[in-house]
Amino acid sequence: MNQVVTLKPDTRNYIWAPSALVGKELKLEKDILLGISGGRIESFRSVRKDDLPIEITGHPYFYALDEGLTLLPSLIDAHVHLALDGIDFNRAREQWNDQGAWQARVEGDIEKTLCSGVAAVRDGGDVRGLNLQVKKQVQKGRYKRLKIAATGQALRVKGGYGSFLGVDFDSADSVPGLVEMIAASGADQLKVVVSGVVSFYHYGMVKGLIMPAEELCYIVKEAQSHGLKVMAHASSAGAIERAARAGVDSIEHGYFVRPETLQLMAEKKIAWMPTIIPVAAQNRSPFRELWTPEEIDIITRTYEEHIKKLKSALDFGVPLGVGTDAGAAGVRHGTALLEELLLYARGELSPREILQAATVTNARIIGLEKDFGALLPGLKASFIAVKGKPLDNVNALKTLHTHFISE
Ligand SMILES: [Zn+2]
Repeated sequence: MNQVVTLKPDTRNYIWAPSALVGKELKLEKDILLGISGGRIESFRSVRKDDLPIEITGHPYFYALDEGLTLLPSLIDAHVHLALDGIDFNRAREQWNDQGAWQARVEGDIEKTLCSGVAAVRDGGDVRGLNLQVKKQVQKGRYKRLKIAATGQALRVKGGYGSFLGVDFDSADSVPGLVEMIAASGADQLKVVVSGVVSFYHYGMVKGLIMPAEELCYIVKEAQSHGLKVMAHASSAGAIERAARAGVDSIEHGYFVRPETLQLMAEKKIAWMPTIIPVAAQNRSPFRELWTPEEIDIITRTYEEHIKKLKSALDFGVPLGVGTDAGAAGVRHGTALLEELLLYARGELSPREILQAATVTNARIIGLEKDFGALLPGLKASFIAVKGKPLDNVNALKTLHTHFISE
């Protein structure tokens, strides 16, 4: 049973949980009673179920979770593309011309995202800026309350990868005007496309141009002057190092990152979203059949080697987030996050490290740390209840029972 419960903002709500993962450290606490007011956590204290006063157990908005359930903060996916459907890239793009059709598709994908325990996402951009439109429509009540950190249109170098992601430029002169335009559109962060994508024909190769260092540094400086964090699509050792030196705020994908660049990222507090599932999804049906056995070997080796770097990134002190690239071929909105977390579990990370990446660290990366990411007074009342003990095994997330969200 996957149900989404919207907590009423205009009344007090109470939730009692037999177990809860509390604070930024996700400390396991027993018998927790949460008081919620105005959609935010007002208080939490430990009280046994039998000792709850009648004013609470008789309250019309009191939720008591069953034995065996654990309450933890809602999950966050820090890299999605709401403009794409995760099934058919060309069909999704054609649908952009039919507003009714793409809005209905997005509505379904928002529903699936919330049903997967994800309360907030950061969108990595599309050339039409549809992600920003969806964000504005959510605020008007057109869609369910998924919180979206939008980038609108991405910035890319002319002739480089990602014509579906955003607008291009061919000289540094156009940078200030473009950054100004994206900031004025209402984007929360700026997305830059620093490199192309990983090749499945030659191991270790990344296709496409790399954005020149001078332009990239200029973009970062201009974005900072508008108060925008920079989310940088970068794969290949050279492109990642260039982005890190330019001082971007997060590296997206980051395939073939070198240890010394991870160290530099840790020093500069640059976050990493490894996005394993878009590559791993190629290794299963229906995509697997599209590749030759040699290409499947390259795909497998690419993401297996990538997974091995997660633990060393954490050991260096890199803020490790989680993003799925949901919307990319084979990466479905909502369900992809759990798949990504299960891939993290193959990388020697503890369940706590994995859950922190998807909650407190992701909240900071997407700029919503005052609302999401931890069970703490003052933050939004946004939680998932799962069966079992997620700190012992992240597979517990498979048994999502309820997602509590606030308006
Ligand atoms: Zn992306």
